[in-house]
Amino acid sequence: MRWRAILLFGAPGSGKGTQGKVLGTIPAFCHISCGDVFRGMDLRTQVGQAFLKYSSAGQLVPDEVTVDLWRQHMAHLVTLGKFKPEIDHLVLDGIPRNVEQAKLLESDLKVEALFHLVCHDKAKLEDRLKRRALRDNRLDDASDSVIHDRLLTYEKETKPVLEYYGKKIVKEVDAEQFPFEVTRDILNQVQSTKASKTKRAVAGVGI
Ligand code: ADP
Repeated sequence: MRWRAILLFGAPGSGKGTQGKVLGTIPAFCHISCGDVFRGMDLRTQVGQAFLKYSSAGQLVPDEVTVDLWRQHMAHLVTLGKFKPEIDHLVLDGIPRNVEQAKLLESDLKVEALFHLVCHDKAKLEDRLKRRALRDNRLDDASDSVIHDRLLTYEKETKPVLEYYGKKIVKEVDAEQFPFEVTRDILNQVQSTKASKTKRAVAGVGI
């Protein structure tokens, strides 16, 4: 069974984590942040060390390591009953982060929508990352050069994921609004996606 998923997508600092946390409080939505999965690990392990090495340089952790860790984490949540695939929608933030990961996850996920949190103002993103670094003690956002590298990695490696999923799945949301307005826009789109699917199902057209 492929799990139904909604993806939160956008540059570092675009508000994926904030939106994911809010959406995750809604019944039948299960929010998973890939960055949080990495940060929650024992940093003395091999994978923990890899995370430190790559994230502190503004780079992505290698794909196989990332997808393996994510699968292990998901299996654990299913065992604990914290994610119920028959009932819940996954709200994924931070994964897939490049086209290779999207391909690897094809067998795990049925992606129903990807919300692209669009923020054109680079200075705003940098400012948000710096404030978060101070607040949450995030080493990966601590210096200007790492922030610069993370934004570059996003442009080069992550953004092509938009093309991979295509126009039917990708929905743009203005991330420069207040957080509650971003949440409102996402939920409105979830509702209209659901409504059009129901309509198609009733008309006997495959989803
Ligand atoms: P942000 O919320 O700022 O986008 P995250 O907390 O999602 O950042 O990720 C922090 C770091 O963890 C990334 O810079 C990267 O090194 C690593 N990471 C998180 N998710 C992935 C992923 N899917 N693939 C590879 N590396 C990842």
